[in-house]
Formats: sequence, structure tokens, C-alpha cells
Amino acid sequence: MKRVLLLGASGSIGQQTLDVISSNNGNFELVAFSVGEKVDLVSTIIRLHPSVKCVCIKHGEYIDIFKQQHPRISFFSGDEGLIKIVKKAKYDLVVNALVGFAGFPPTIAALKKKATICLANKESLVVGGEIVNRLLKKGYGKIYPIDSEHVALAKCLSQAVQDHVSKLILTASGGAFRNHSKEQLSDVKAADALKHPTWQMGAKITIDSATMMNKGFEIIEAHYLFNYEIDKIDILMHDESHVHSLVKLDDGTLLADISEPDMRVPITYALFEGQTQFSCTRIKSLKQLDNFHFHAFDAAKYPCVALAKEALRMGGTALAVLNAANEVAVYAFLENRIPFLSISELIAKELNYVKVKRQTIRNVIEADRLTRLHLRKVLGN
Ligand code: MG
Repeated sequence: MKRVLLLGASGSIGQQTLDVISSNNGNFELVAFSVGEKVDLVSTIIRLHPSVKCVCIKHGEYIDIFKQQHPRISFFSGDEGLIKIVKKAKYDLVVNALVGFAGFPPTIAALKKKATICLANKESLVVGGEIVNRLLKKGYGKIYPIDSEHVALAKCLSQAVQDHVSKLILTASGGAFRNHSKEQLSDVKAADALKHPTWQMGAKITIDSATMMNKGFEIIEAHYLFNYEIDKIDILMHDESHVHSLVKLDDGTLLADISEPDMRVPITYALFEGQTQFSCTRIKSLKQLDNFHFHAFDAAKYPCVALAKEALRMGGTALAVLNAANEVAVYAFLENRIPFLSISELIAKELNYVKVKRQTIRNVIEADRLTRLHLRKVLGN
């Protein structure tokens, strides 16, 4: 029985992780979790998982009420609470399903504790991939991705000899505005973006999907997870989100992971630390492939991908700048304060403005803070 600490239990990945834990309850038990805004879920999760001993809540003002209701459970709050729960709780696996930069410090704290991490928070690898890999190399902890594309790549790469891999091919749905022309993108609104064609996700990642910064992040994530250079990682547009990613071999062979889009599949794969039996093809009949559509990636329509690649080439703290600028810009768009096309323009300006430093925890946190400060000033808040 593996004891699980789930960070970000109230989000989309967090809720589906709870489903996976409940449907494999001989293998996993939830011993600790954190929630953000949705505090009403705390009591429900505790009732469904009586093994819970520690809880972290974003806002400290609720703690006293919860302590009275659940005297045997330890409660923590805020960003510091996330670090405390990682340090103090006793667990075998951490699932990090936090959104944005907030997920990075807990990932580092967990690695320093030599923990095994199932990582849905891709920003941990985006802003701190070099730091994470230095820690992993020294024997601090393990990482299993939860991102569906990277689980697909891990499965395909497990069937390939590294020397014979010529490309990693990340598939992309193109997000909510995939049928819009570049001109039409100038006046789209956040509410339109929140209707993603194939995946139901949180607001931040839905916008990242529409700009395709999400795919840019996934290139960075693939680079650090699997150790392939940027020019070996390609994007292929695929409308139905059934082909989760592909690996191309030197002789032209393509390996693919194909199944219904359901995040519980990659979550299960990560929780079982890649040891679960998987079926590569979960489509009912190959005839279904008739209805799959693929297109070339249009770099001009999605400038965020080039920005992500540029930041990866710059390395060091440029990646924290990329992420911080993206977070501030995306939330400004969600609040209807900037137009959609300004997201990439603002990120490009922040990347021009940065003096790249070596990637250390302190420098990354500082680059994140300064970029937010600067961009918020530019946006007038
Ligand atoms: Mg993904």
C-alpha cells in the first residue's frame, strides 16, 4: 500500500487523482492533501479518505474551524504550508497537481526529501528543469510525469533504443481557437477560450492551450525529462486528442500511444511508477483511425511556441521569466484586461528585458518575482 500526498486536490487533475486512488484502494491510500480556493471540498475528501492525517489550505482563516471539526488532523496554510506538509507528512508518493509557479518550491522540497513525485505541475520543469535534473542526478528522488503527452512518450521510448530515436513528436489539439485565422484572434474573449474541444481542464491551462504556450512548455518538459535537444522535438496538430504523442525512429517507424482522451490513464501510469500493464491501443477498431485528422503546426499562428524554444535556448532564469510573464498575461486576459494577442507580445518583451542568470533556487524565485512586478507595472496594477 503506497501512502499518497496530493497537492492540488481540488483541481481537475487532483479530483481525477482521487478517482484513481479510490478505484485502486488496495494499492494507494490518501494520507495528506492540499486545496486552493475550494475549501468546501476539505470535509468531503476527509470523509471519503479516513486515512488522511495532514491537510494544507490556501487561506489560513479557515484553519481554526477545521481544527475543531477534525482534531486528529494537522492543518497548515498558505505557500509555507505547502512546504511544511511536504516536509512533515509521511508518504511514499507525492502527486503535484498545483497550478503554475506555486508548484515549483514543493517539487524541490519533495526531491530534497528523496521523494517519488508524480508531476502534473509542468511549471516545475519549465522554471527549474536544470535544478531538478541536478538533484535527480545526485540521487534525490524520482519523477514520473502525469502530462498525457509525456506519459505517451515514456511508453513509446520504453520500446525504443535511444540511439535510434530520431524525433519526439508531441501532438496538439490547437486549443479553443484552432479554427480561427490570425486576424480573428485579435478580438476573442476568455469565455470563448474556456470551451476546449476535447479536454476539460482548469482556466489557466485552457488559455495556455489556446495560445499553445502549453505545447511550448511541453517541449521544455520533454527536453528535461527525456534529455533530447529542442530540434529533435516536433509538434503535430491532431484534432481528436486520441494519439497522445509519437516517437519516430531512424528507419522511419512511428511508435504511437493511442487511446480515448482520459487523464485517469496517465495518472494511473504515474501512480504505478510506470510499472502498470498498459494497452497501447484502446480504440475499438482500427477503422476508427479513419476519423483521425492531422495537420502541420503553424508557427506564425502560435508565437508562444517559438518564445518557449527561445527561452529554453537562453536557459538559466530565462525560463522563469517566460513562465512568470505568461502567468501574469494569462490572468490579465482571463480578467478581460488585455486582448488575446497581447499575451505573446508581453512575454516577448519580458524575455528581451531579462539578464539571464544561472539557474539556482534563489535566482529562479527572484526572476519570477521581478518579472511579475515589472509586468504588473506595465499593465498598470
Ligand atoms: Mg499535456
